[in-house]
Amino acid sequence: MTGARSSSDGQHGSDELDDVMLPERIHDASILAGYLTDASNQTGYADALLRPKNTGEVSAIVAHCQANGIPLTITSARTSTTGGPVPYGGWLMSMEHLNQIEHIGEDTATAGAGVFLGDFQNEIEAKGRFFPPDPTSRFECSLGGAIACNASGARSFRYGPSRPWIEALEVVLPSGEVLRIDSDTPIPADWPVPKWTEPTVKTAAGYAPANRLIDLFIGQEGTLGVLTKATVRLTALPTEVMGILAFFPSRASAVAFVERARTAARNDRNGALSPR
Ligand SMILES: Cc1cc2nc3c(=O)[nH]c(=O)nc-3n(C[C@H](O)[C@H](O)[C@H](O)COP(=O)(O)OP(=O)(O)OC[C@H]3O[C@@H](n4cnc5c(N)ncnc54)[C@H](O)[C@@H]3O)c2cc1C
Repeated sequence: MTGARSSSDGQHGSDELDDVMLPERIHDASILAGYLTDASNQTGYADALLRPKNTGEVSAIVAHCQANGIPLTITSARTSTTGGPVPYGGWLMSMEHLNQIEHIGEDTATAGAGVFLGDFQNEIEAKGRFFPPDPTSRFECSLGGAIACNASGARSFRYGPSRPWIEALEVVLPSGEVLRIDSDTPIPADWPVPKWTEPTVKTAAGYAPANRLIDLFIGQEGTLGVLTKATVRLTALPTEVMGILAFFPSRASAVAFVERARTAARNDRNGALSPR
């Protein structure tokens, strides 16, 4: 399998799982109640809630569930509008404690999947750099949740969704194996690859037609693996942003303007017309 297994940094591959204690299993209904719904307003149920503190504990939980046939649902900040983090039986694993910001450099920044996206972005911007993906929920959602859903927002017009900004991921596979994937890691030859053509309407979440392994794990909503850590690409923090309110004589002329502006934004990101 392609991708380096982490062990030198204290994280655990599947052969080390026996050494790792599962974190506490919480059965208290009053605690569980706060984790059983999301912004879709569906409410589910779970036998236990587990809140791992590091990748090794995530690996142990996933491997235990796989070995014992226990359904496992991943939950982060539960801003999903589709019920994705809502469990229907089995164990519920909350990523909230994997929230450390490890590094903010000139070109990249690395953090645990559970960090609030907006907090991470504030720290990056305090250092004069910029991580653009901006779902409206960025101060309520996690970095890992945003990547798992390939979230996008108002600035996506210029910067795109989360996908192009993800440089590397740490992923726990259903076996418990920990992979470190970067943007050059190929898809292992013996892995099945989803083959489909994306529709022309807006579509972000879901499996991507992929050549790179990292693309399989962006937008997969926790169905292929657990994101435990991400390294994101940074760009220049815009110093001046101007808002314009414009009136168009017709819908057609407004749409034509948007199409021209989009073309200009994508063809020349530093051009005079640089809408975001
Ligand atoms: C008010 C509001 C505004 C929103 N605005 C936008 C918007 O502008 N753009 C947009 O794209 N979305 C938007 N959303 C939807 C949602 O906020 C995003 O999809 C967000 O990225 C989900 O992050 P989360 O941490 O809340 O994840 P959760 O809701 O907890 O989980 C979402 C899904 O990802 C999986 N998942 C979570 N963490 C991980 C992980 N670490 N590894 C693997 N799988 C994981 C879960 O199992 C689930 O299927 C909005 C939601 C709300 C409520």
